[in-house]
Amino acid sequence: QTTVAPLSSLSPAELEAFLASQRTAYTDLQNRGLKLDLTRGKPSAEQLDLCNELLSLPKGHKDASGTDVRNYGGLSGLPELRAMFADLLWVEPEQVIAGGNSSLTMMHDCLVQLLLHGGPDSPRPWSQEETVKFVCPVPGYDRHFTMLASYGIEMVPVAMHEDGPDMAAVRELVKDPSVKGIWVVPTYANPSGAVCSQEVASELASMETAAPDFRIFWDNAYAFHHLTEDEAKSADIITLASGSGHPNRPLMFASTSKITFAGAGVAFFAASKANVDWYLGHQQFASIGPDKVNQLRHIQFFGSADGVREHMARHRAILAPKFAAVDDALTSALSGRDVATWSKPSGGYFVNLDVLDGTASRVVELAKGAGIALTPAGASYPHGNDPDDRNIRLAPSFPVLDEVETAMAGVATCVLLAAAEKLSG
Ligand code: PLP
Repeated sequence: QTTVAPLSSLSPAELEAFLASQRTAYTDLQNRGLKLDLTRGKPSAEQLDLCNELLSLPKGHKDASGTDVRNYGGLSGLPELRAMFADLLWVEPEQVIAGGNSSLTMMHDCLVQLLLHGGPDSPRPWSQEETVKFVCPVPGYDRHFTMLASYGIEMVPVAMHEDGPDMAAVRELVKDPSVKGIWVVPTYANPSGAVCSQEVASELASMETAAPDFRIFWDNAYAFHHLTEDEAKSADIITLASGSGHPNRPLMFASTSKITFAGAGVAFFAASKANVDWYLGHQQFASIGPDKVNQLRHIQFFGSADGVREHMARHRAILAPKFAAVDDALTSALSGRDVATWSKPSGGYFVNLDVLDGTASRVVELAKGAGIALTPAGASYPHGNDPDDRNIRLAPSFPVLDEVETAMAGVATCVLLAAAEKLSG
């Protein structure tokens, strides 16, 4: 049995031999002519097939209250679907809006309305402030950051810990009145898998902020996306915030994009009654109502909130082995080498891989050269800039299990080769 020593402890001669062996392993990898993709957190075809019944729904065209879903109207969405997701999201039905197919669109709508008009408690529209800044826990979701960048909003990174954003840093930053908001993916965060604790949520809800209209963009995209029996319960940010005198601070988002069809699900917005009225007050100029046919189809497909929970167990059965394969491949190739750490998420869609500082871009480049597409290094940071060039987001949901195993063994080879190159200077 060969001993596995940290790469940094090898003598120059040992390191040279190791580098040579990894170059050979990499050439072998290239010769396999792979074409694999671990870039985006999309559901696999097998997961989408779980919902094929949706394609022959709805049965009939009226909801429980007799509304003809084929027609215009009903800006807040069908009441039964709002009630179902209110139950799942721990809010009151009148605090939930069931919208179109994308929660990202709802986040964007909120941001744009805040810029153009301000919120219920804004002294002026955000666009009339000299500077608008957002606290951005990193690593985070690339599209949150690109959305802010597109409006010239300054992003201030803070560390995302296992229990949520680094609150010591957040507490300091919100003393600046130009800091207007923070992104939080509270449950199984993209990409770290972190779950925001009750304590962190409660502090976010209650902390003093210099901006009177500070907003928590609480993006609960993975609220029900458990990978283990140990199901994380999202903190109830809306009750926490109203209990501490800041009812309008949180804006909650969720969707069925990774529950039913990623491109044809239903998105939800939940917040205080004042924020819901604010949102609808602006939305009325943009829409005569959402796609209620799709909403009715979802009501019939799920049946109840428990129907959603049961459905998520079927996703878990498909996804959990893929996440296990990622961990197995990384553990067997990298443990003891001291060149990488990675998350072992209990839910969500991603594994966060931190490699030796200064080698993430090289790992992604090597993987590409061997036919394995990885998310660009740094993508999980504002402006794509990971100052340590360390972070890589792995998305194992889309490829079939075999491909995940093959791709991850290849990624591990690239991690070792890049580390050996770096250490041998
Ligand atoms: N929020 C997070 C954290 C995500 O990871 C994603 C998709 O990857 C989305 C939102 C997109 O949501 P939707 O499909 O509802 O627009």
